[in-house]
Amino acid sequence: MKILVTGGAGFIGSAMIRYLIAQTDTEVVNVDLLTYAGNLESLGEVSGSDRYRFEQVDICDQSALQAVFDAHQPDAVMHLAAESHVDRSIDGPAAFIQTNIVGTYTLLEVARKYWLAMPEHKREVFRFHHISTDEVFGDLTATDEPFTESTRYSPSSPYSASKASSDHLVRAWHRTYGLPVVVSNCSNNYGPFQFPEKLIPLMILNALAGKPLPVYGDGLQVRDWLFVEDHVTALYTVLREGELGETYNIGGQSEKTNLEVVNCVCRSLDELVENKPSGLTTFKELISHVTDRPGHDRRYAVNIEKIAHELSWRPSETFDSGMRKTVSWYLNNLDWCYRILEKSDNTH
Ligand code: NAD
Repeated sequence: MKILVTGGAGFIGSAMIRYLIAQTDTEVVNVDLLTYAGNLESLGEVSGSDRYRFEQVDICDQSALQAVFDAHQPDAVMHLAAESHVDRSIDGPAAFIQTNIVGTYTLLEVARKYWLAMPEHKREVFRFHHISTDEVFGDLTATDEPFTESTRYSPSSPYSASKASSDHLVRAWHRTYGLPVVVSNCSNNYGPFQFPEKLIPLMILNALAGKPLPVYGDGLQVRDWLFVEDHVTALYTVLREGELGETYNIGGQSEKTNLEVVNCVCRSLDELVENKPSGLTTFKELISHVTDRPGHDRRYAVNIEKIAHELSWRPSETFDSGMRKTVSWYLNNLDWCYRILEKSDNTH
C-alpha cells in the first residue's frame, strides 16, 4: 500500500507519517508546500526510510500534482494540507480560501482523473480520506448535546468556513462522480511538534521566557482535546475500515476550558522546571486575560459513538497523561521550537 499524504510536514501530518513508517509497512509520499507551518525536521526519524518520499508541491498546482500522482501511483490519499490557524484566518483569509477550498478542489480533480484511469482491481480499493475539523459545526451552549455526524454545519471563522467548504466539495465528488471518499472531523489536537503559535506550545514557551500567558476573554471557552497520536490511529482506522461516503467524528472525550488547559500547563511546568524565571513561585502568576478573538466560539464537544461502535476506536491517552508527555517533549525539544520560529520570522 502506498499512501499520498498532503500536509505531511505539519503537526498532524508529520505524526501520521511517523506512525505509518514506524508501525506499518506502508510506503508514504509526502506532498507539502512547506509554508511557515511545514517543517521537515519533524520527519527526521523517517527521512532515511526507503518507504518515504517527499515532494515539495502546492496542492493548488494541478500539473505538479498530476506529475506526483503519475510518478508515485498511490493507492490512497490522506488530505491534511491546509491553512489551519484561526487567528491568521481573521487577519488574512485569502490563503485559507486558496489552499483549503481551491487546493482541495484541485486535489479532488487530479485524484478523480487518476482514479478513473486506474486498472479496475486498484480502482476498487482506492480511497480519498479528507481530514477536517469539528469547528465546521460552529459552537454549542453549555447544555447542548455534543456534535454528531449529522449536526448542521455552522462555521464561524474564515478558517472553519473554508474547511466546511472543502468538506462539501469532497462529499459532492463522492455523490456526483462516485469518488471513493471518507471524511473525518476531529476536535482540538495537542502533542509534540505543534507549531508554537497554538495554545499549548505558546503557553509553554512564554512561561519559560517569563512572559505573560495570554488567555482570550474570560478563558471559559470549552474545547475537546485529543492527543495527536490518538488522532493518527483514528485516521488510519477510518482510512482502512471506514464506509465509503461516510463521515466519522473523532474526539478525546476531554472537554476543558482554555483556562483549565493553561492551568494544567502551568502545573506540569511547576513540577518539571527547576529554575523558574526570577520572582515567580508558580507559572500561574503569568496568566493574563486579553481581549477576546472576534466570533470566538464558546464550546465544541464531539460525540464519538459512531467511530467507537462501528470501528472500535477510542482514545488511549487521558488529558493528564497526554499533557505530561507534551510538556516534557517541549522541554526536551526547545531547539526545535526556536529554529522553526526563526525560520517562520525569516519568511515574513
Ligand atoms: P499545520 O498547519 O500544522 O500543517 C499544515 C501543513 O500543510 C503544513 O506542513 C503546510 O506546509 C502544508 N500546506 C499548507 N498549504 C499548503 C499547500 N497549498 N500545498 C501543500 N501543502 C500545504 O496543520 P495541522 O494542525 O497539522 O492540521 C492538519 C489538518 O488537520 C488540517 O486540515 C486541519 O484543518 C485538520 N485539523 C487540525 C486540528 C488541530 O487541532 N490541529 C484538529 C482537527 C482537524
